[in-house]
Amino acid sequence: MNDTTATTAPAEKHGFQAEVRELLKLMIHSLYSHREIFLRELISNASDANDKLRFLALSDASLYEGATELQIWVDHDAEKNTITIRDNGIGMTRDEAIAHLGTIAKSGTAEFFSRLTGDQQKDSQLIGQFGVGFYSAFIVADEVEVYTRKAGVAANDGVRWASKADGDFTVEAAVLPERGTRIVLHLKDAAKEFADAWRLRSLVRRYSDHIAFPVSMRKEGEATLDWEPVNQAKALWTRARSDITDEEYREFYQHVAHDFAEPLAWSHNKVEGKREYTSLLYVPARAPFDLFQRDATRGLKLYVRRVFIMDDAEQFLPLYLRFVRGVLDSNDLPLNVSRELLQQDSEVEAMRTALTRRALDLLGKLAKDEPEKYAAFWKEFGAVLKEGVGEDSGNRERILPLLRFASTHDESDAPTTTLPDYVARMKTGQQRIYYIVADSVAAARSSPYLEVLKSKGVEVLLFADRVDEWMMGYLREFDGKRFKDVARGDLELGELEDAADKSAAEQAGKDAADLIARLKKALGERVLDVKVSGRLADTPACLVLAEGDPGAQMRRILQAAGQSVPDSKPSLEINAGHALLRHLAATPEGGEFDELALLVFEQAKLAESGSIANPGEFVRRLNRVLGRLMA
Ligand code: ADP
Ligand code: MG
Repeated sequence: MNDTTATTAPAEKHGFQAEVRELLKLMIHSLYSHREIFLRELISNASDANDKLRFLALSDASLYEGATELQIWVDHDAEKNTITIRDNGIGMTRDEAIAHLGTIAKSGTAEFFSRLTGDQQKDSQLIGQFGVGFYSAFIVADEVEVYTRKAGVAANDGVRWASKADGDFTVEAAVLPERGTRIVLHLKDAAKEFADAWRLRSLVRRYSDHIAFPVSMRKEGEATLDWEPVNQAKALWTRARSDITDEEYREFYQHVAHDFAEPLAWSHNKVEGKREYTSLLYVPARAPFDLFQRDATRGLKLYVRRVFIMDDAEQFLPLYLRFVRGVLDSNDLPLNVSRELLQQDSEVEAMRTALTRRALDLLGKLAKDEPEKYAAFWKEFGAVLKEGVGEDSGNRERILPLLRFASTHDESDAPTTTLPDYVARMKTGQQRIYYIVADSVAAARSSPYLEVLKSKGVEVLLFADRVDEWMMGYLREFDGKRFKDVARGDLELGELEDAADKSAAEQAGKDAADLIARLKKALGERVLDVKVSGRLADTPACLVLAEGDPGAQMRRILQAAGQSVPDSKPSLEINAGHALLRHLAATPEGGEFDELALLVFEQAKLAESGSIANPGEFVRRLNRVLGRLMA
């Protein structure tokens, strides 16, 4: 390594951005475990810098300055207590060093701070994810020097950046014959252990095995100037599957996804023939903080013939698979491919179709072979995968068996039922797959709409995700069985209803004809119709929407999107045998009848949508009736 620097002008002092100061405090004072991640982050930055140079050199080979072999070197000095990480990649100009090593560029910094838990392990995992890796140097160093020279500029235009993390950093000119970046960490006393040949070597090995450039260290033994690579320096995905250990796959995931957690599953494939590419897809174990933010970055790391092209190439997977991370290396795309080109390319479209299948197959395999892991996946990403039911009709048959639901069949509210499970458990004579949408699984489970189905032992799926009603708008049937929302229209019990049920219902309708007519009159415009219910056992009445009317969940989604939703008029279904209704039938027309009729309607409304238009009036009405009871 070349240590020469010549300062030609006095050092200039700059203050760190406020967020960086916060961050540095955290690095210095709060992170004691997993301190070794600084190596992962700095090696990963060196690798990124080499990638960037290789990419730019495609159109301007002079940037190589004659040194085409891109490398990374790691060294230490046990006496001076320093560790040095060097690359011969793109390097930084003075302005770039000030911007990149003094501020945090990415959005979501506030989110980063709000997510800190004080739990060392969790907090240290956040560092890579939020693009603040460089600052992790201060976990082990109380002083950091960065010597950097941009590829293609004169040796005199090098820069020395230095900081003791005390709120400021300095920048000054330096003469640097070698292109790229050298970072010198002056270790804190408490981190001296890292300046040990054996310890350093094992860590560097661990964090560089998947790096596509040679990472070299000094040969062991007496003071030697000989360097030797400590990694394979072969892009992991280019190696044969059988030669890659699970440990290596996991390490690589952490590098690609900036996630300290282990992935749940992966799929590594090489496609040959007319179209040639290699893909390595991962399913993470945890959702990123911005999973539901529109502008969140997503997509695969794109390479063309081993050359890094871009991060977050989102064109290769549909939005509902945005949690999938990984790498795509194409042999066919042009090296100068841009995001715009990716959008129009028919090759890209074909790869997207194939990768979508592959990702869905990967999930299917996980569901089959490792149900516990799949349950963990579903908890984090189920609501995202459900978007696919509406967005990807071509793959609907693949997606449906991957869905998981809570069900009246289980005592727990955990989503464990699949559609095939449900169909296998259907009663003889049952023709519909019954479901209910509510604000929570618990609310769905105790809903009055389920009473008769429960008494007949018919299973009902319990939906409570905010996308559920929307999703069901796209689903007509599964395995030839139509879906049926139990809160809408007729229950369509078919053969589940025997002759006795039917004649009892007919009789109940006749008996209640007078009551129904009087209720209609009392409720007026509030209801479309009043009829005897076939779904109630213990509850006096419920409201039933017509098939196409938006339900409570859909109304909220539409309203949130700024659309006005006309009130849909429900029908009131009464449980004619219920004591309250029998009492009503015996109550003569007049003020008391009207009041009780309204109460029946309002409590049904409350059970259906969780709210009523005028709660104050409802409560007064209820208390008047209770008062009369007690008088
Ligand atoms: P990230 O790598 O996620 O962008 P970092 O905090 O690790 O975040 O690095 C911040 C920025 O500093 C990088 O994006 C890059 O522009 C610059 N940088 C860091 N290390 C190097 C390096 N070795 N060579 C060139 N630029 C670097
Ligand atoms: Mg980084």
